[in-house]
Amino acid sequence: MIFGKNHIGNQQSAQGSKTYKTFNPQLNIENETVFTEATSQEIDDAVQLASKAFKTYRSISGEKKAKFLNAIADEILALDDELIKTYCLESGLPEGRAKGERGRTVFQLRSFAELVQEGSWVEASIDTAQPNREPLPKPDLRKLLIPIGPVVVFGASNFPLAYSTAGGDTAAALAAGCPVIVKSHPMHAGTGELVASAIIKAAEKTGMPNGVFSNLNSSGIEVGTQLVKHPAVKAVGFTGSINGGRALYNLAAQREEPIPVFAEMGSVNPVVILPNAIENRGDTLAKTYAGSITLGTGQFCTNPGLLLAIKSEGLTSFISTLANEIVKIEPSCMLHPNIIGAYEKKKANMVSQEGLHVVGDYNNDVQTNYARQIITTVEGKTFLENTQLHQEVFGPFSMVIQCDDVKQLEAIISKLEGQLTATLISDDEAQDYSRVISELQNRVGRLIFNGVPTGVEVCPSMVHGGPYPASTDSRFTAVGVNSIKRWVRPFSYQDWPDNLLPDELKNENPLGISRFVNNKSTKDKI
Ligand code: NAP
Repeated sequence: MIFGKNHIGNQQSAQGSKTYKTFNPQLNIENETVFTEATSQEIDDAVQLASKAFKTYRSISGEKKAKFLNAIADEILALDDELIKTYCLESGLPEGRAKGERGRTVFQLRSFAELVQEGSWVEASIDTAQPNREPLPKPDLRKLLIPIGPVVVFGASNFPLAYSTAGGDTAAALAAGCPVIVKSHPMHAGTGELVASAIIKAAEKTGMPNGVFSNLNSSGIEVGTQLVKHPAVKAVGFTGSINGGRALYNLAAQREEPIPVFAEMGSVNPVVILPNAIENRGDTLAKTYAGSITLGTGQFCTNPGLLLAIKSEGLTSFISTLANEIVKIEPSCMLHPNIIGAYEKKKANMVSQEGLHVVGDYNNDVQTNYARQIITTVEGKTFLENTQLHQEVFGPFSMVIQCDDVKQLEAIISKLEGQLTATLISDDEAQDYSRVISELQNRVGRLIFNGVPTGVEVCPSMVHGGPYPASTDSRFTAVGVNSIKRWVRPFSYQDWPDNLLPDELKNENPLGISRFVNNKSTKDKI
């Protein structure tokens, strides 16, 4: 059941007067449930409860946290058809995608459960004392990662499950020992409420403190602004636009106590196709890329928005095949009228830029909220001179840059803003393009070889982040268990009695975790 209320810890609440509804983009009508935006008092209550819960939750064992995370996964699965139905009604995305994303969400939660159950993630490090060291004795120092405090998570519009209420940011923060307050995304508030109720059920069943999780409704920037400014909030996770992420980052930096904002924002994910590859298999590549550009109506942060190659007959033929292939694909629905509105506006702005040519444009009539895909092309020189052309168009849009030579290709890559990914397409020639590869590595978080950037595997070696504006802190990933590191800080005990140390740092190593003891990795006791 969806009530349209906020979850303030374990209680449901709707004290406010500002209400809103979600929207069904397939039918172009509002959905029925009325959601009540959180009031200032409710926001403060949620944060105060989180702060109180942190006092106990921060030192709960890995085993108990694992039970909690697994219980959230179980409760999400128990929502069954109601969750899938609500997801589809609020996003316009098909059932298969909803089920796939639910699977990914559950997998993420269970991966974090496994991580904290095993325990070595705290990076315990022990340097034993040397009382006889000259000229001064060396103290005993023991370090581990500890949770940072209550975290605010902004749900993403384009992933109602995997990057929203119980998505990667929330799972990582709860695994780290941080209570979470979710600022629910207004486009899928019902999906968010259902998942929030699953988290609260799991928290109650596994004996977690009240306030370990809250979910606040909002359809404007006020709730998010108040949350980020709240002195008891210690970090923020965000996925969305550069404008939104940057505004929250600035707000957090202006606080009396600045806090980190881990924002994952725009990316055009450049794809470099080397000469042999474009000559040998340009047509096949064009077909593959037509699919990747339109996948999920282009609403992926890893969508390939830029294709770069050196001018040749092969490139001309590639552009023509891509243009023909893209219009064969049936257009699909975008998430919300606002998202398609932004797509049409940004697309029109791009098309109006001097020197940009439209080569493939789906121009048949489409249903309301369905996006027409488009392929454009531009000379390398024009691209270098006009930074407007470097901006993301969120949706099924891509631009082919025709470079004069490899020097210009390198110059373009070095001028690109930070990106989540880049892709190199090569046929036995990559070894001759080490400078191109090096320039790409300097701009991105993940380099793909002979593939497509769409598709983000959840595993420890994944980096989903990159230099600004792909993310606000390129040292961290937003996907995979290593994303837990955003919500912790290193902490040292000096000369502390063994019985007062946390289990992770005790001489006996009662948890049997891997530790660095006097610079050597070991599971041995001391
Ligand atoms: P958004 O505008 O960045 O909003 C994301 C969330 O942040 C929303 O909950 C929004 O609240 C909140 N927010 C935005 N600006 C804020 C501010 N100044 N202060 C406080 N809160 C703020 O993104 P969106 O609505 O999800 O999608 C809009 C556009 O973002 C898309 O068209 C696309 O261009 C881009 N986008 C990019 C990615 C990517 O991965 N690259 C992913 C999703 C979206 P309210 O909605 O309640 O105002």
